[in-house]
Amino acid sequence: AKEAGKNNCQFYTKGMNATAVNYLLLENDLRRAIEQNQLALYYQPQIDLKTGDMTGVEALVRWQHPERGLVSPAHFIPLAEETGLIVPIGEWVLREACKQKKIWLDTGKNVGKVAVNLSPRQFRQKNFPGKVEAILQETGLEAKYLELEITESCAMEHAGETINQLNQLNQMGTFLAIDDFGTGYSSLAYLQRFPIQKLKIDRSFIHDIHDDANDAAIAKTIIGLAHNMQLRVVAEGVETESQAEWLRAKGCDQVQGFLYAKPMTAKQLESHFHNGRFC
Ligand code: C2E
Ligand code: CA
Ligand code: CA
Ligand code: CA
Repeated sequence: AKEAGKNNCQFYTKGMNATAVNYLLLENDLRRAIEQNQLALYYQPQIDLKTGDMTGVEALVRWQHPERGLVSPAHFIPLAEETGLIVPIGEWVLREACKQKKIWLDTGKNVGKVAVNLSPRQFRQKNFPGKVEAILQETGLEAKYLELEITESCAMEHAGETINQLNQLNQMGTFLAIDDFGTGYSSLAYLQRFPIQKLKIDRSFIHDIHDDANDAAIAKTIIGLAHNMQLRVVAEGVETESQAEWLRAKGCDQVQGFLYAKPMTAKQLESHFHNGRFC
């Protein structure tokens, strides 16, 4: 029994080492990803439910790993956040998205605003609003074309600081959205004090909207809450026509999801343009 216990213990340790080593390898690779030009941005359109117009695109990062292939952000953003690598990665994303939006403006392709995701560690940097301002200047993009997304849980975690950061960004003229809304614990008192323009209903509520009365009630409540606060509301993860119909009937302003378009490269997005419009 003692032997077996020892073996078990060894096995467990080995397993843990393998994971730790794997993690370390990934971290080393990630450090080099920016220099070696392995990060790429994909863009997913956001559509106005009334007019069908494209109101904007959300920039979503991908990692083209030389051996592992296309790595999804869900697999490396948490590691990047933990190691602090999210700061240079996030800056790269912001700069790249602003550059691309400027190109679209200059070539008459009206994609609307470009939305960029911010991770908590990035957003909490004291000089973050200054960094945004510097990137806007460097790329020549007007602030009004940039939308910044922070998650509900990030926004609420240090709500006092959040208000400071958001106020500075708002004064510069960027748009601000609360992402994954409904999954965190919002204080309505704080929400009211955030100078934001948009709530994004988390896609977990949209998925079962026809089968789960709780999800439907939450989505409906978020739409009402947003409108009472004079905010726009966007539903994420819309995959079916009937989900879109339901959202339109409930007065949701915008939608984003595979029903309309998957995230795609800038080139792919451009191929959808005819006479300056997305088709
Ligand atoms: P998110 O901000 O909630 O982004 C939406 C995610 O939903 C994207 O996954 C998108 O591909 C996916 N999606 C869009 N439409 C549908 C749909 O109809 N059905 C389903 N099932 N999924 C849909 P993605 O690109 O894998 O990104 C995952 C998460 O990684 C993002 O969630 C965001 O939290 C994070 N992320 C992505 N890019 C960045 C970035 O540049 N910076 C930071 N900090 N986080 C990022
Ligand atoms: Ca987002
Ligand atoms: Ca989201
Ligand atoms: Ca559910």
